[in-house]
Amino acid sequence: MAGSFYRVTCPDCENEQVVFGKAATEVACAVCGHTLARPTGGKAAIEGDVTETVEAR
Ligand SMILES: [Zn+2]
Repeated sequence: MAGSFYRVTCPDCENEQVVFGKAATEVACAVCGHTLARPTGGKAAIEGDVTETVEAR
């Protein structure tokens, strides 16, 4: 897999945001600032609810 994107729902404000599955930096919710993904050296750790996986090429 070349990498995929995840549609993540923020657990705090239910904002939907697309997060890169291999995010190298912390991804925060654009609305409330809740951390949605943390870099772990490989795959990002997704903190919110993944509602959809979007395959990327
Ligand atoms: Zn939020």
